[in-house]
Amino acid sequence: MLSNPQAIIIGAGPAGLAAALRLHQQTDIKCTVYELRPEPTTLGGAVGILPNGLRLLHRLGVYDAAVARGYSGRNLTLHSVQGHVIGSMDHVGWARERTGFGYLRIKRAALQDVLLQATTKAGIPVRFGKRLTTIDDSVDGVKVTFSDGSVDSADLLIGCDGIHSNVRRSYIDPTQTSEYSGLSGIMSIVPAEVVSAEVMDQISGLEATFTEEGMLAMNPCTASKDELFWFFTKEVPLPESGDSRDGWEVHGKEEVEGFKTMILGVLKNTEGEWGNALKKVISNTSVVKFYPIYRLPLGKAWSKGRCVLAGDAAHAMSPHAGQGVSMALEDVFLLSRLLEDRTRPLGEVFEKYDAIRRPRVNEIFKMAADNGEMRKRITPWRLWFREITITLGMNMSWALGLDKKGMRQGHLTYDIDEAEL
Ligand SMILES: Cc1cc2nc3c(=O)[nH]c(=O)nc-3n(C[C@H](O)[C@H](O)[C@H](O)COP(=O)(O)OP(=O)(O)OC[C@H]3O[C@@H](n4cnc5c(N)ncnc54)[C@H](O)[C@@H]3O)c2cc1C
Repeated sequence: MLSNPQAIIIGAGPAGLAAALRLHQQTDIKCTVYELRPEPTTLGGAVGILPNGLRLLHRLGVYDAAVARGYSGRNLTLHSVQGHVIGSMDHVGWARERTGFGYLRIKRAALQDVLLQATTKAGIPVRFGKRLTTIDDSVDGVKVTFSDGSVDSADLLIGCDGIHSNVRRSYIDPTQTSEYSGLSGIMSIVPAEVVSAEVMDQISGLEATFTEEGMLAMNPCTASKDELFWFFTKEVPLPESGDSRDGWEVHGKEEVEGFKTMILGVLKNTEGEWGNALKKVISNTSVVKFYPIYRLPLGKAWSKGRCVLAGDAAHAMSPHAGQGVSMALEDVFLLSRLLEDRTRPLGEVFEKYDAIRRPRVNEIFKMAADNGEMRKRITPWRLWFREITITLGMNMSWALGLDKKGMRQGHLTYDIDEAEL
């Protein structure tokens, strides 16, 4: 690459802002981030971030700020549809011992705010209200045009513009489209005061209840535990009309009531203190976000010419492994490390990036898809059998010390900075 190299980053989501920060920390590449939203996102919902991702947030220098805004509860507790606890475990304990990082549930907007503050502090320009429309890539550089007619050019472009990436669709691989997973999520955040203080005291992390229709999970999402994020994942046929690609907020009283009635119906036999708490949370919800879950097929192109994709733009996957943000962070850490070596031609950087990231992404994509199976509709008998199996499995794991041996946690200790270049 040239001296004084410039990079254009499209998208100010976790991938885009983290890419700008890491390149600023590690290379002399000057970045400008372009984001189509007119201002920083206020999107609802909260994301769970696991040890492999938290470690990278630490290296970006934003971990403490993120922890101060999110909830770090340790346990995964499973409840039966009748409202009993069927098992509870520190689901990242083994990985925490090895990495020093556990689990964080943080509001999406808070995470964005933490990353944006760090980006601003580093003096990296982030331009809002800029929708990328066209890319003109040549041997001399890459030129982009935005919908307001403005243009910019640079030596390389990183497409961090999410699952419906325009960088991918308009340039890198126009044939690549997202596919519906068959599952949709309904989610909201409510004040924790809607449930009793006793119930809040019992909540020690992610609380999941499997039902015949899907999985209902709840997790505090602030450090003070004053807000509860809940989500319900279930099978939903592909909507016949309307824009099914993106999530939409449901504010209308009747529409919100429709979702509530459906979930309360699913919980009709859930009793006791836990059952009442769940019902109160759902009843006290005033806005829900409905999110059909889409993903990208594996094995497609991630780069072309001077342009490369990172995060969801390259490999959007189902959210059931809680790894979307962490995968985006791993991508940009690797890209930055490869770009640090100025002797490597861009083509070689992108090839190496592909070769190192592909097996890891495929593994986590499959894990997320497999976890999605547990959210599908099942008969009452199969649900009963699943609850028994989980109870036995968790007891056996505890008795044999399998949780201490890191069963199902190996992927959480993966360190992208140790990948051989
Ligand atoms: C229901 C659901 C639950 C999830 N839960 C979790 C979880 O618990 N943990 C987890 O780690 N991950 C979770 N994920 C996944 C996670 O949200 C994504 O993997 C992550 O946001 C990817 O970051 P990104 O920056 O690649 O893309 P995005 O977050 O989608 O950001 C892309 C940005 O690009 C901008 N953009 C788009 N087009 C253009 C354009 N033409 N010009 C300029 N800017 C543009 C967008 O406005 C956006 O700001 C979940 C996803 C869903 C759908």
